[in-house]
Amino acid sequence: MKFTELGLAPEILRAIAEQGYETPTPIQAQAIPIVLAGKDLMGCAQTGTGKTAGFTLPILNRLAGGRPAGPRKIRTLILTPTRELAAQVEESVRTYGKHLSLKSLVMFGGVGMNPQISALKSGIDILVATPGRLLDHAQQRNVDLSGVEVLVLDEADRMLDMGFIHDIRRVLTLLPKQRQNLLFSATFSDEIRTLAAGIMSQPEYVEVARRNTASELVSQRVYKVDRERKKDLLIDLIKENNWHQVLVFTRTKWGANGLAEKLLKAGIEADAIHGNKSQNARTRALSGFKDGKLHVLVATDIAARGIDINELPYVVNFELPNVAEDYVHRIGRTGRAGSEGLAVSLVCIDEHKLLRDIERLIKREIEEVVYPGYEPDPSIRAEPILMRSAGARGGQRGGGAGRGPGGGAPRTGGAPSGNRSGGGKPGGGSHRSGSRHR
Ligand code: AMP
Repeated sequence: MKFTELGLAPEILRAIAEQGYETPTPIQAQAIPIVLAGKDLMGCAQTGTGKTAGFTLPILNRLAGGRPAGPRKIRTLILTPTRELAAQVEESVRTYGKHLSLKSLVMFGGVGMNPQISALKSGIDILVATPGRLLDHAQQRNVDLSGVEVLVLDEADRMLDMGFIHDIRRVLTLLPKQRQNLLFSATFSDEIRTLAAGIMSQPEYVEVARRNTASELVSQRVYKVDRERKKDLLIDLIKENNWHQVLVFTRTKWGANGLAEKLLKAGIEADAIHGNKSQNARTRALSGFKDGKLHVLVATDIAARGIDINELPYVVNFELPNVAEDYVHRIGRTGRAGSEGLAVSLVCIDEHKLLRDIERLIKREIEEVVYPGYEPDPSIRAEPILMRSAGARGGQRGGGAGRGPGGGAPRTGGAPSGNRSGGGKPGGGSHRSGSRHR
């Protein structure tokens, strides 16, 4: 199938062609006709599948058909869980709508309200917002949502994880009852179904394969290493293999900061992004990373959610996520759109149970490797994993994995494969971090 067969306006097809896209991705091929038909849609798709264009293109098409008489009102509201995702979605709206005379605005917290107020006053067709800031504006009566024809809840599962359900429900009360609803989520939990049942009428379902099952392009590898030596191993891996664009995941904000500092001291251009950083600092780090000025971006799961970087070559799990599904999200950052990627996990003895959970979820064993010079010390015992800054969602899905005395104790007697790869140079054994932090 080609984009030209979908019945989109010529201005939109032109913008798509300028992006170099010819063929719709599976989610686009399925979702676009449904949205064009004005139906409600539940889409099960993760970032990286092309879902953003899947809803943006048909919405633009609808709005391009002309607007109702009277003052310009917001006709499409797109809610996202994070600032980064909001910014990226609005960028897509601009990209695909560049030959149309529609106005869009992105609105999130952490930046001044006044520029957003002025932009709202100037008349907006498509608003992309995080729920909290939208409600701030609604309370101050800066925003009129009475003309909304299409509502999109993007990454609805993450919005629920982050505790936005009440905010979403409050936003819903501000919208006209008669509207088109589109909901995208990586998973369809009971919670998501309940939310959807309350807002959608006879929705169509579309689903694309989860990245872990779909993507054979991501090579996955586990390096067994002692917790105190992870930082040094990461530095060696980056330097010796000349990795240039590496997204590194840590479990906590303080862990992200500490690691970025350590990498910088080792002469590697690195920065951290997480919820405690100002919006400006986050935007700067992200664009530096996209431009290739920053070689390493250290992120927590929430901060990284929705980051859209084409063809990211390396993802490192400096610590395994507490929730196995997050592993799938993390490695979904690499191996996109036809390019190969490598997902490396540094796994210490505390994390063996988490590793087994992940392998059960993805239904395969991940190749285990010991980097020469970093052989784990067999006398080191497992310790419980602390989630010091797990944040709002920590208590909801963490489910106690790895917590409590012995919670992270290995279940297996040893590495299932225990093979050594030729993936690194020997002789890294003299590095010791001396750090007592994980
Ligand atoms: P998304 O899942 O919406 O975050 O999109 C993932 C990436 O795929 C983005 O970088 C898009 O620019 C890119 N993309 C979207 N649609 C297509 C397409 N039809 N062909 C190739 N790449 C695409």
